[in-house]
Amino acid sequence: MMTSEQPHVVIVGAGFGGLACARALGGKPVHVTIVDRRNYHLFVPLLYQVATAALSPADIARPIRRILGKFSNIEVVLGTVTGIDTAARHVRLADGRELPYDKLVVAAGSDYSYFGHPEWAEFAPGPRSLEDARRIRARLLTAFERAEASRDPDEQDALMTTVIVGGGPTGVEMAGAVAELARHALASDFQNIDPRRAKIILIEAGPRILSAFPEKLSDYAKTALDRLGVTVILNEAVESIDARGVVVAGRRIDAGSVIWGAGIKASPVGDWLGAPLDVPVAFRSTRISW
Ligand SMILES: Cc1cc2nc3c(=O)[nH]c(=O)nc-3n(C[C@H](O)[C@H](O)[C@H](O)COP(=O)(O)OP(=O)(O)OC[C@H]3O[C@@H](n4cnc5c(N)ncnc54)[C@H](O)[C@@H]3O)c2cc1C
Repeated sequence: MMTSEQPHVVIVGAGFGGLACARALGGKPVHVTIVDRRNYHLFVPLLYQVATAALSPADIARPIRRILGKFSNIEVVLGTVTGIDTAARHVRLADGRELPYDKLVVAAGSDYSYFGHPEWAEFAPGPRSLEDARRIRARLLTAFERAEASRDPDEQDALMTTVIVGGGPTGVEMAGAVAELARHALASDFQNIDPRRAKIILIEAGPRILSAFPEKLSDYAKTALDRLGVTVILNEAVESIDARGVVVAGRRIDAGSVIWGAGIKASPVGDWLGAPLDVPVAFRSTRISW
């Protein structure tokens, strides 16, 4: 039961942080409004499986209303936050609505950073949303289809090459999943090409992959990728990305698909508060659940 005397808490974002906060306030003497630009909560850690056709989008998305429906003091609002007026204490939505608040929780997550090259985003999507994951999946599968249709061996090789930029957890997961897609799931689906010959190249500018983790785990991951036939390039940074592939340390690598997993930045929503922004150093081994 909501009363106008109860403090109004607005939570921006129904990702892991926002949902945890809402659940903790469920049934408490506060009126909670949780606002998200999507009507579903996304299980982000499994996006790479959607991107490599191992899961369907519906497997990793659940309606926010269903998750929080049992709490009568929580209202779910679909809307994109475009600004926060801390003096007037309200959150502005893209459609012109304003949500007044007594307490504000900003849990709007992060986005990819292309290190000052926003034009690379078009050629190298990263698995951050369902739309991105679908784009990656379409590119990967279309590249194999185009290789099948081609009669030029060089073109076939290029189309069956996937470059993954960034040797952090996302890049490592993506590289392993693409290798499994090519070596197993697609292995016998084509007549003119052998997907098991596909090249998967992981490029990391630093001296080791998973650099935020202990060295032993980096070594373990590297050995596992070697076994899957992933080529790991260390100490070399990608210099440019275009529709044909990438240039790394002056060398061009033609590729049918390029996937970004290199850098992230905090959501601009925090910026609107005028608060100092930070980025997560790395995510720990997962204990996230729905
Ligand atoms: C590919 C990948 C794999 C990962 N794997 C793991 C893992 O195995 N283990 C682990 O611990 N972590 C993992 N992470 C990290 C983990 O997903 C994040 O740490 C976590 O999602 C952060 O939670 P959050 O609530 O801060 O943001 P998010 O989960 O990103 O949620 C932010 C929410 O805010 C909403 N939002 C953003 N801007 C607006 C706006 N302007 N208006 C309205 N709504 C808005 C978004 O729609 C979203 O629902 C992974 C991340 C990626 C990308």
